[in-house]
Amino acid sequence: MSRLCQVAACLSAWCFSMEITVGRDRKPTCVKYERILENAVDFLNGGLELLFASNFSSQTAKVAVVSIQTSVELLAKYRMVREAGLQSIVQGKLPSKNLDQAVKEAKFSTLGFGKVLDLVGAIEGLTDDEKRLINELVNIRNDLVHFASEVDPESVKLSCVHILARVLSIFALGEARDIGEMADYRLLLSEQNFNKLINFDPYRAEAVDAALESLDAEKVFKCYMCGNESFCLRASENYFCHCCGFSVVSDAIAFAACDACSSVDRVFFDPLNTTNNMHYGKCMDCEVKQWVWECPDCGSVVSQVDGKARRACTYC
Ligand SMILES: [Zn+2]
Ligand SMILES: [Zn+2]
Ligand SMILES: [Zn+2]
Repeated sequence: MSRLCQVAACLSAWCFSMEITVGRDRKPTCVKYERILENAVDFLNGGLELLFASNFSSQTAKVAVVSIQTSVELLAKYRMVREAGLQSIVQGKLPSKNLDQAVKEAKFSTLGFGKVLDLVGAIEGLTDDEKRLINELVNIRNDLVHFASEVDPESVKLSCVHILARVLSIFALGEARDIGEMADYRLLLSEQNFNKLINFDPYRAEAVDAALESLDAEKVFKCYMCGNESFCLRASENYFCHCCGFSVVSDAIAFAACDACSSVDRVFFDPLNTTNNMHYGKCMDCEVKQWVWECPDCGSVVSQVDGKARRACTYC
C-alpha cells in the first residue's frame, strides 16, 4: 500500500508537470491539459485489468479500487479544467509570473474532490444516484487507505463498474457527447478492457439507468453497436450510448418497427442512404434485413421484409 500512497501523493505533481491553460480569460502558451486525461486513463486501465483478471481477489480488489477512484478524481478535474481552465480547480490564485515553473514544481494545491464534484455538478447537474455512487467509492478508498479495512471483492467490482457507467460520459467526454464523432470508449480503454466492461451485465444495467435518468435524453433506443438499451437521442440532436460511449449525429441513423418480429424501434437504417426511395435496414432483435420507406403523406417510417408486397402506411 505504501507505494500506492506515494503514487497518490505524487499525483498532482504529475498532473500539472506541464504547460496548461489557466483559464478562458488568461490563455498562455500551449494547452496540454490532456496530460490529466492520460494519467486518468492509465489508472483506469490498470484498475480495470485487475478488476477483470481471472485471479481477482480481495488483495487485488484493494489496488483496483484505489486506482479506479484515482482515475475518477482525475477525470472530474479534467472535465473542469477543460471547461473552465486550471484556475477553476486550484485553491487560491495561480501565480501570474512563472506559471510553468510553478506548475512543474506543483507550487499550488488543487481543490478537494468534493469541491470539484460540486463544480462539475453545477455545469452538468449530477443526480442523487450519481453522487451516492461516487461517494460510495470514495468511502471504500478512504477506508482502505486510512484504516486498513478489508473489502469484499465482488461488491468492490460492482461499485467500480456502476460508477464508471455514470462518470465516463460526464467527466471524460463532457461536451464531446454532443458532437457525434462516431467514436466510443476505446478512446479511453484498451480493447480488452473495453470488451470486458461493456459486456459485464451489472455495468450494462447501470448504463441503462444512466440513459433513462439523463437530463439531456429525449428518447432511449437500443444501441446498434453494443446492443444495450442505453442509446440516447440527446437534446443536441446527437445519439450517445451510455454503455459503449458511441456517439453519432442524429441525421446519420434512424429507427423503425420491425416487419418480421414487430418489435418497436429495432430496425436501424441510414436515412441519408436510399435506393429507390427506400432505406436498407436491419433488425437488432431478429437480425432480419429489410427495407424502410417514409410515407410521403405523414412522414412516418414503414418497414417491410424483402420480397413482400409494399405495405400501406400503418399510420394514415
Ligand atoms: Zn452502445
Ligand atoms: Zn425484428
Ligand atoms: Zn402515412
